[in-house]
Amino acid sequence: MIIISEREIATLVSPADCFAAVEGVFASMAKGKAYNFPVVREAIGHADALYGFKSGFDRESLALGLKSGGFWPGNVEKGLTNHQSTIFLFDADTGCCRAIVGGNLLTALRTAASSALSIKYLARPEARVIGMIGAGHQSTFQLSAALDQRRFEKVVGWNIEPSALGRLESVAVERGIPFEAVDLDRLGAEADVIITITSSFAPILKAAQVRPGTHLACMGTDTKGKQEVEAELLAKASVFTDEIAQATSIGEAQHAVAQGLLAATDIVAIGSVINGAHPGRRSPEDITLFDGTGVGLQDLAVASTAVDLAIARGVAREIDF
Ligand code: NAD
Repeated sequence: MIIISEREIATLVSPADCFAAVEGVFASMAKGKAYNFPVVREAIGHADALYGFKSGFDRESLALGLKSGGFWPGNVEKGLTNHQSTIFLFDADTGCCRAIVGGNLLTALRTAASSALSIKYLARPEARVIGMIGAGHQSTFQLSAALDQRRFEKVVGWNIEPSALGRLESVAVERGIPFEAVDLDRLGAEADVIITITSSFAPILKAAQVRPGTHLACMGTDTKGKQEVEAELLAKASVFTDEIAQATSIGEAQHAVAQGLLAATDIVAIGSVINGAHPGRRSPEDITLFDGTGVGLQDLAVASTAVDLAIARGVAREIDF
């Protein structure tokens, strides 16, 4: 069995590696070759922690396994990240444990790859201004991966607590792109692409604030009750997602579906666009919205890539198990 610790991930796996892995597994999902098992997530009644499993199997790549972990709010005081996860991979032919892989950085990278993929396939080619809503831990990963997808010339950002916007500005400045903190009206009026990555439980961005032709990647809503944009926005957009069942239950689409503004059958799996089975954006005026809910198969895909790279480079640490 191979062990790849959390501290090894940064030198082993690049954002581009994760992008390719997630692109592959989304395509596999849309072909019906890869599927996620039901998610388990429980408040364990200790340390205020939320703990669970995300698992699945990809019959194309033979990635089988689970990501286990969750949220420990008291970790910061212990010098640890609040979100903790570990990925376990199993040999699909034998069931033997193939690898244990640190999942914290991989989770950030696979989530960033997901919104970046949506920009690759759905944003207008001439998109030049990107708007960021949210400036937490995950936001810098989302912005950094997004900047590789178009020739962006400006980043505009909004956060409920504006002092946090400095971390987005740092990413933009590092890439030689100007950054400006703006209000939501200006963000909607200027941005060609908008990424939302907050923990909000009420709509932040209104439908009227979004211009025709905008592409949105809504990435923060991954739990029942969370919401980042007005449900009316999904009614007027072409809606895409990683997994339709998750979008309608725990994703941004849950609210529009519950209000009868959107049907599950209106939502397109992004993998169908990757596979060429769906054209994606229909016109330059189309508003496209990607509801990125985060699936276990993404975790298995990037962890498999980490293992393959470690073996190929001769740095895999194997133990007799
Ligand atoms: P974080 O705690 O570091 O940052 C949270 C962000 O949300 C901050 O910008 C904060 O100011 C903002 N925020 C909090 N409450 C808000 C409110 N009521 N209104 C507006 N903004 C508010 O978290 P993070 O690690 O950056 O993750 C952000 C979100 O993304 C979380 O909700 C997390 O669950 C989700 N997430 C989704 C995926 C996925 O695959 N879709 C993966 C990882 C994280």
